[in-house]
Amino acid sequence: MTEVAREYIGSIHLHTTSSDGAASHLEVAGVAAQAGLDFLIVTDHNAFANGLDGWYGDVLLLVGEEINDSRLDPAANHYLALDINRHVPGDSASSQEIIDAVSAQGGFGFIAHPFEHSPPFTKEPELPWIDWQVTGYTGLEIWNYMSEFKSYLRDLPRALSFILFPQAAITGPFPETLAKWDELLLRQRTAAISGTDAHGNIYRLGPLRRALLPYEHCFKALRTHILASEPLNRDLEHDREVVHAALKGGRSFVAYDAIGDATGFRFQGRNDQTTATVGGEISLAGEVDFEIEAPLRADLRLLRDGLVVAQQRGKSLRHTAREAGVYRVEAHRRCLLKSRGWVFTNPIYVRL
Ligand SMILES: [Zn+2]
Ligand SMILES: [Zn+2]
Repeated sequence: MTEVAREYIGSIHLHTTSSDGAASHLEVAGVAAQAGLDFLIVTDHNAFANGLDGWYGDVLLLVGEEINDSRLDPAANHYLALDINRHVPGDSASSQEIIDAVSAQGGFGFIAHPFEHSPPFTKEPELPWIDWQVTGYTGLEIWNYMSEFKSYLRDLPRALSFILFPQAAITGPFPETLAKWDELLLRQRTAAISGTDAHGNIYRLGPLRRALLPYEHCFKALRTHILASEPLNRDLEHDREVVHAALKGGRSFVAYDAIGDATGFRFQGRNDQTTATVGGEISLAGEVDFEIEAPLRADLRLLRDGLVVAQQRGKSLRHTAREAGVYRVEAHRRCLLKSRGWVFTNPIYVRL
């Protein structure tokens, strides 16, 4: 398979002391370096930490904002705004007005944790996205680590064991989130990212007092890998543009790296004339040959318009498509007696 881009690994959607997180921008950047990340996108609640983006050692830290309409109770409809340069007021603004305000300043954004399932034991309200009439957003956060984790805390024994050992719980994106993504993909380009929603806060639970999903744990667990159009060169303006363009264009995939480093995972489609990779469009022109390469053995699935059209256990999958549609890849791996979601790629759009 031809190498078309440079791969960088990042963590998107986390909170600092600018809102309700436990660490500063400098501190989270240091933790990200320890965790081996290339970039970090901080999105504090209704707070934009202007001027704190930049290179912190070997980590590129970019600042966005997680905005919600504060009139809603519970405070649903969280929007992850990226590539903005000033605060977007969330109070007394509808979700559509928030999306439009982000776009008006040249930014783009993702619907955060579109579905949530918080069991009563967590005493936390569910904060899903409820306004699906909106337009103008770039995509969905298809896998929110904190949201998924919270959904398993149904009682004290499970909460204690999963806080100590999150790997026993984490399984993959919520099925309804993937179904919603597939539904949207039939109508419009919709890019996907993952978010950790890391806060690093200390929780007390029975005899336990510890950080719930510490930053370092989150940064190593669920990550978004981008295929950048060109190498990062430590020029902040340039690098910011390269990372944002990859996320906006869907030139990325989501990986639960805790169960196997997904670096090098590739999905591409080829017709007689050209080759497309994730986020790309290609004309059917008779047929498109798809190639999937994985760095580790997995259950590889190619989906067209939300339905599996080819499946293979191993490190590669080939499939010749003769129908237009939206093709995306899922890879699952067995870990701790369960098949768990590992890689979810952005689609390749095959047009007539
Ligand atoms: Zn949120
Ligand atoms: Zn958040």
